[in-house]
Amino acid sequence: MEPKISLSARVKQIKPSPTLAVNAKAKALKAAGADIVNFSVGEPDFDTPPHVCAAGKAAIDQGFTRYTAVPGIPELREAIAHRFAEDHGWHYTADQIQVASGGKHGLYNMAQALFGPGDEVLVLAPYWVSYPDIIQLSGATPVIVPLTEAKDFDLEPEVLARYVTERTKGIILNSPSNPTGSVFSRAALAAVGQMALKGNWVVISDDIYDTITYIDGKLPHILDVCPELMEQTLVLNGVSKSFAMTGWRIGYTAGPKHIIAAMNKIQSQSTSNASSVAQKAALAAVSGPQDFPRVMKEAFVPRLDFILKTLTEIPGVTCVKPSGAFYVFPNVSAYFGKSFKGKPITGSLDLADYLLDEALIAAVPGIAFGADRFIRFSFATSMPVIAEGMKRFKTALANLS
Ligand code: PMP
Ligand code: GLU
Repeated sequence: MEPKISLSARVKQIKPSPTLAVNAKAKALKAAGADIVNFSVGEPDFDTPPHVCAAGKAAIDQGFTRYTAVPGIPELREAIAHRFAEDHGWHYTADQIQVASGGKHGLYNMAQALFGPGDEVLVLAPYWVSYPDIIQLSGATPVIVPLTEAKDFDLEPEVLARYVTERTKGIILNSPSNPTGSVFSRAALAAVGQMALKGNWVVISDDIYDTITYIDGKLPHILDVCPELMEQTLVLNGVSKSFAMTGWRIGYTAGPKHIIAAMNKIQSQSTSNASSVAQKAALAAVSGPQDFPRVMKEAFVPRLDFILKTLTEIPGVTCVKPSGAFYVFPNVSAYFGKSFKGKPITGSLDLADYLLDEALIAAVPGIAFGADRFIRFSFATSMPVIAEGMKRFKTALANLS
């Protein structure tokens, strides 16, 4: 029966976050007693560092439990500005920074402040699952630009050029990328930077994985190769990944004052401010010792080596070596067209369902990232879990005929 109250056209356009949906399903199965190997959600398997937790506890004990300034407490914004200056040499004032309830919420604020019907926003596929939906919620149109495995999922400016129109208002860059782990090259960033300057696009640089890289030297950044873009670039970051703080929900954006002010207007009429207690914890993370992300990254290296080696030994599977983040994104399309007990595997959704039902492995189908020939495994989980999961994966693929 049709419910009495209808829903908005806006909400009907979007879908729930597929990464969170697979994770919820895996957790429910696990709670019901199933021996699930969970490669689904992207969150570090580390605990939040003790000094950060202590700052959160102290905030509660000291009664720091009231509304804060809409853009975030001044000392946190100062500390974030200091971090950008120290890490990158970018000089922001505190009124060029907004603290929001997670990086995802920062993106939402940006899209609401910048985009509307008639605007087109370039999104590179494979993309993080939430980009298209957040853009759609603003009324704008996400324009999906394919990146290729053959080019290690680097930006291809000449391909991008084919998707540009006079309605192009912005582009989202994510390097290292979720889900591919790719890092964009300086040359490609420089070419795209020139296109952005020419077209007056807003550049959204989602740097949430920038502390987790497996490359030598500094991570290339569009603002370093094209500093003239400063007036039209929003840099998004947060503590979820770098300080294992996914549940605290703190992310931040740095950019031109008038855009940050517009985002603050949106925030003042929606969440008011990010959690006061979580902001104090984030302050300890951002202003304290910066060795935690490095320690975490060092723990990821042997896991990456192991998972990549195992995957590429499986007949028909290919996988670009990630240069950052904690995901592998193998191409599994050689198994499409095969079946199990008469049930065909037609694409990544079928494969992910088969893996969950028959091998008790939770992974996110590539179609959720706009790339159906692939599947995503997060290796932010322990080595024994990865070893068991890969053993099951290998067997499950071998059982398809
Ligand atoms: N960007 C990317 C690419 C992500 O993978 C995520 C997922 N955590 C986010 C932004 C947002 O993270 P959070 O909201 O936890 O800060
Ligand atoms: N970004 C993480 C992921 O891709 C967390 C889940 C989400 O925020 O969608 O798994």
